[in-house]
Amino acid sequence: MSRGQVKGPGHAQNGSIVLELNGIQQSFPQADGGRLDVIKRADLTLRRGEMVALIGPSGSGKSTLLHITGMLEKPAAGEIVIDGEATADLGDDAKTRIRREKMGFVYQYHHLLPEFSAIENVIIPQMIAGKSRREAEPRARELLERVGLGGRLQHRPGKLSGGEQQRVAIARALANSPKLILADEPTGNLDHNTSDGVFAMLSDLVHDFGVAALIATHNLEIAQRMDRAVTLRDGELVAA
Ligand code: ADP
Ligand code: MG
Repeated sequence: MSRGQVKGPGHAQNGSIVLELNGIQQSFPQADGGRLDVIKRADLTLRRGEMVALIGPSGSGKSTLLHITGMLEKPAAGEIVIDGEATADLGDDAKTRIRREKMGFVYQYHHLLPEFSAIENVIIPQMIAGKSRREAEPRARELLERVGLGGRLQHRPGKLSGGEQQRVAIARALANSPKLILADEPTGNLDHNTSDGVFAMLSDLVHDFGVAALIATHNLEIAQRMDRAVTLRDGELVAA
């Protein structure tokens, strides 16, 4: 099925499409009374196992587009279809459910809970989604082993390096077996070598688990290692 034909729940048979953005626009009021058209048009289709770089200079609207995709911000126009479900008319509870069950988020700064251990940080989102601690623990352990932190399960975030903190954040993002990972400059705070390692690990997991990932970065070297790249140029999302 070609791009553009799949428009939502009525066509959800095509299970490989995880995310569709159709005609997304966003603008913000400015101090001078005018409006800034940050996103004039964004159309995007992401399939299972596909890792797509979202590039563009600072201020080009990458974070805005990720917030809109994560339904944390409402676009001025356009629709977001997650795993075949059109989201425009959903209430806050339904959006929260989709975020919890289908999406994992990774930020530039890890945002781990400082008072909890690495493994607890990966257990807690599963408990919020309804699992018991006992059910959640094996997956948390397995994910942390996958990201190379099998020996750091009981460490609190403050006792981990920046790269290790991002690895925990990636394990946490995958805790509830999401279909879609949204990451906003996930290696932006890391030095060159560390970001290479963290990116390689994220890439392995995305491909192994068959999730789709949209990853904002201004590191072009990292962008080139993804399956493809899109860029926000003067508010239009185009192939890079
Ligand atoms: P990027 O992530 O690519 O650096 P952002 O999405 O953060 O870009 O921001 C794009 C533009 O939109 C910037 O000029 C920013 O100042 C503006 N902007 C973002 N959010 C808001 C907001 N809530 N209100 C007004 N302007 C905003
Ligand atoms: Mg940003």
